[in-house]
Amino acid sequence: MENKSEEQAQPEKSIFTAIAQGDLPEFKNILAQHKGSVDFFDENGMTALQHAAYKGNKDMVQLLLDRGADVNSGKHEYNYTALHFGALSGNSDVCKLLLDAGAKPTATNSVGRSASQMAAFVGNHHTVATINNYVPASEISYFSVPQGQQTEPHLPPFLVESLHKFVLGVNIHPVRLALNLQHMSALLENAEKVSKVLEMLCKKEMTRGSDTNEVMAFKYHYLAYILREINNIRDKQKPVESKEDKKHDVIEIFSKKLLKPGKDGVSLDLMDSFLKDCVREFPYRECTTFHQMVTSLTSKDPPPALTVINCTINGQRGFVDAIPYCSTCGEEKPAKKCSKCKTVQYCDRECQRLHWFVHKKACNRESSVPVNSKPNIDPSEITAELQNLVAG
Ligand SMILES: [Zn+2]
Ligand SMILES: [Zn+2]
Repeated sequence: MENKSEEQAQPEKSIFTAIAQGDLPEFKNILAQHKGSVDFFDENGMTALQHAAYKGNKDMVQLLLDRGADVNSGKHEYNYTALHFGALSGNSDVCKLLLDAGAKPTATNSVGRSASQMAAFVGNHHTVATINNYVPASEISYFSVPQGQQTEPHLPPFLVESLHKFVLGVNIHPVRLALNLQHMSALLENAEKVSKVLEMLCKKEMTRGSDTNEVMAFKYHYLAYILREINNIRDKQKPVESKEDKKHDVIEIFSKKLLKPGKDGVSLDLMDSFLKDCVREFPYRECTTFHQMVTSLTSKDPPPALTVINCTINGQRGFVDAIPYCSTCGEEKPAKKCSKCKTVQYCDRECQRLHWFVHKKACNRESSVPVNSKPNIDPSEITAELQNLVAG
């Protein structure tokens, strides 16, 4: 008599093989034929979801979750969860999918390490930040329902999704946040309500007793502060004829103000004092996080406030200098270089354009060294240069 479990095991085995080979069409095929639960195990007690997460394969992870894969299932001998494997893969999108599906970020393996600690151990810093910055959408949607005597909620329900996205962002550089807000105009248009909700989230986070996440509370405060500042600039901008221009201008003014170099031509004094004020305005002054930031900011030869805030929110990281950053918004591993001097990098044309008023002097200096220096740069030349910016 044929062993029934062996017969069943065949398609399951081929699912593991398809994952190992990264063969998406084959994987889809077998999955479509496979009836019943997808929470089966291989000889090491690993589920298909865990394998797909370990491979960092976003599509396969999504397909398995769509089929109802249990994100917290597994019999791995060292108690690794799907999120541990996703963290090791270094694919932040995979981790985000797993977290959205209810993966527990606090679950530890047999040596007591959480998923984000494992990611840090192998140097996947973006993944560490993604996991540590994660909040479930329910935290935000809570404020989109009227509470108690309220007839109207604090947050209009249509803003829940974009606010959630805004909160989960890992790059907390103020110019990146401003550029992100440019694409989330509804948040900007409702800046007053949204910043109030962020302050309420901050308060809620600080009053959770032993579950309090001070870092997350500070992040809410920080996001509210940035949003309010942009809103203040907008209020002062009135009246402007075109709505499109108005939005554009606000981000432009905000970004250029922060990117303007100080007297030495390098340090960002305005950004620094703007961010120090943000720390100073944090209302929970007894907490450890606040003390650590103040200690760091008031030390002899203090690091820039942006560095202090970034370390607080995203954690200390090693080998930072080896990673290229966008000169405008701090995004890691930007895709483009200034085509003229090749010494600075940017995410895209928009970032380069915003930074040109700072970079033009250094750029001309760099690129004029080997050739005969020209007495004047005419505006058409700058325009031509701007058009060449997307070289990469
Ligand atoms: Zn950028
Ligand atoms: Zn340049």
